[in-house]
Amino acid sequence: MSYPRYINEMIETTYDMWSKGWDEYNGGNISYRLTEQEIQEMATDLADTDYRIYSEPIVVENLLEVPHHFQGQYLLITASGSHFRYLKEQPAVDTGIVKVTETGYDIVAGFVTGKRPTSEIYMHILAHAARYAQNKEHRVVIHNHATNIVLYSLLNEVTSESLTRDLWSVLTESIVVFPDGIDVLPWMVPGTKEIGQATAKLLEHTRLVVWAKHGVLSTGVDYEDCFGLIETANKAAGLALDLQRISGKPVQENDVLTDDNLRAVCKALHVEGRYL
Ligand SMILES: [Zn+2]
Repeated sequence: MSYPRYINEMIETTYDMWSKGWDEYNGGNISYRLTEQEIQEMATDLADTDYRIYSEPIVVENLLEVPHHFQGQYLLITASGSHFRYLKEQPAVDTGIVKVTETGYDIVAGFVTGKRPTSEIYMHILAHAARYAQNKEHRVVIHNHATNIVLYSLLNEVTSESLTRDLWSVLTESIVVFPDGIDVLPWMVPGTKEIGQATAKLLEHTRLVVWAKHGVLSTGVDYEDCFGLIETANKAAGLALDLQRISGKPVQENDVLTDDNLRAVCKALHVEGRYL
């Protein structure tokens, strides 16, 4: 039995996230937008696996108004109550494929014991739609509780600009990985339409949204791109926390990278920093 690549990468990514301590117990969720070819070959690709394909899909309607340009897309998505430590043992139980419809989705494969998609599916659909409108290569949305970023947002009054500048100024690679910056959403109740809509709005001009005092919402053209974005921001947040702790001063009062330093990095690597 061998799974198609997009399922194998989901298995690896969920386990890596759990190993990093970002997805305790049932925390976090991931979705991946299938390519045209993967949709065409789904029946063949899943034939020798424990995924089941439903001739009569389970229909969920009246959940949200799906933007027109995103209707008909297929997402591989993690289940509500899936545990990323254990998902690798039972991907067909803990993930499934949904087809996005006008006001919801049809479950077309997977979730073989009857689990349902993450309660954040509303946010996933809107996040994909927002990024897909910006970049036709967009594929992956990840939500998790990246530890250093959560801690940083608990310790500091963060805004989109202050967090972006702090993380840019402690790790030279940061501005290259997220030149569009990081947007901060003040704390909101998760799993609601409001947080989904507010997140999607911010994703019109950024790839990474921090949910203050909760976690991150990252997007990317593939799993590695999306994971790497969180990894870099979380590394920078860790440096910023250590810097604050060791010096006893706010990040910007230390000998961090200046705007001129950041501009020089941008020039050398041909990116444009949002706040410079
Ligand atoms: Zn969460």
